[in-house]
Amino acid sequence: MSEDRAPGFATLAVHAGAKPDPTTGARATPIYQTTSYVFNDVDHAASLFGLQAFGNIYTRIMSPTSAVLEERIAALEGGTAALAVASGHAAQLVVLHALMQPGDEFIAARQLYGGSINQFNHSFKSFGWNVQWADINDISTFEKAVSPKTKAIFIESIANPGGVVTDIEAIAAVAKRAGVPLIVDNTLATPYLCRPLDFGADIVVHSLTKFIGGHGNSIGGIIVDGGKFNWTATNRYPFLSEPRPEYNGMILGETFGNFAFAIACRVMGLRDLGPAISPFNSFLILTGAETLPLRMQKHSDNAKAVAEYLSKHPKVTWVSYAGLPGDRCYKLAQKYCPKGAGAVLTFGVEGGEAAGVTLVSTVKLFSHLANIGDTRSLIIHPWSTTHSQLTPEQRKAAGAGDDVIRLSVGIEDAADIIADLDQALAAT
Ligand SMILES: *Cc1c(COP(=O)(O)O)cnc(C)c1O
Repeated sequence: MSEDRAPGFATLAVHAGAKPDPTTGARATPIYQTTSYVFNDVDHAASLFGLQAFGNIYTRIMSPTSAVLEERIAALEGGTAALAVASGHAAQLVVLHALMQPGDEFIAARQLYGGSINQFNHSFKSFGWNVQWADINDISTFEKAVSPKTKAIFIESIANPGGVVTDIEAIAAVAKRAGVPLIVDNTLATPYLCRPLDFGADIVVHSLTKFIGGHGNSIGGIIVDGGKFNWTATNRYPFLSEPRPEYNGMILGETFGNFAFAIACRVMGLRDLGPAISPFNSFLILTGAETLPLRMQKHSDNAKAVAEYLSKHPKVTWVSYAGLPGDRCYKLAQKYCPKGAGAVLTFGVEGGEAAGVTLVSTVKLFSHLANIGDTRSLIIHPWSTTHSQLTPEQRKAAGAGDDVIRLSVGIEDAADIIADLDQALAAT
């Protein structure tokens, strides 16, 4: 293999960031289950604390196991650096903490994971970070929401729960005109299906809990720095453009160039807010990442087969899956995720609430739970579970009407997945 050959995605998924352990020769990345690291001497300690040298100090801020995960996901997304954190929600918190001051605004798509809508509407408001909602079906709503206080735009590439695809390039153009970074939650697509940085995004976040970890066994999140945003062009982002008193007046945006954002999130977000990922979870998620391309292709192929089956079933009133020709997002899916539209889809079952409850109670292979991105096929009836505290009107507005069923299609045999749905639909 020639030296200048750029490795492909599947090769990076297995190798990026990892070398045999220098001390033991261990080929798999070890779990560095330690809280802290011994300094060589006092000068070494001072240079680590002063950001004059890179090295390990304390596992709240970094870990050699997580460092491999960070390098791997940065390589898969085409970013310059990454920061692993405790969960997808922690990633969103740490990113906005680096960008927002009390009284600032950010614009977010309405079409988001329900937990993100709660986080933005309630907890972030109590920090004085004010969300302005926009609609991915009408890009002008993003343009109209821009104000002098806007510090960022936040969207999902493929949006949970409807499996709708966002026009990343169009929203990146709005962000560019406004002079603010575009943050894309790429959890549902993963970099195997879509790389938002290639379409003008500046920062990518993930819930690693879902498809990248992929096995339903560990919570984690990550922030990927695209490396292109100019943080020191204005004084809008003081964390990056103003001298940091605790680091001897260092200006992070100048000192760390195209990975300054990842550094700012680490040395301020992780240091002060504290949502560190456990090295054990980083190990499990790294193991999952090695098979990401194989699993995502299988998830997408299975989901397409299931969507085709459902779209012909007499008791199914509608199917929303961007991978189906004729779906309103099919054209966007062909552009942004041509290898497949992912694992998550929704459909309507005839007979409303009673039929939905029967369906989730009668499946055998599917697990009835509130998660996505497991190897196993998962099902939920949001009306009677995740959205049951809302009024019927609120449930409908959130896309969780009484007939809506959400699937996260697993990597079992497609024929078995379809047979399970078939017997459960027959019981409705
Ligand atoms: C699950 C999820 C999150 C939150 O991630 P956690 O790891 O559960 O904190 C954020 N965004 C999307 C799209 C998700 O599916």
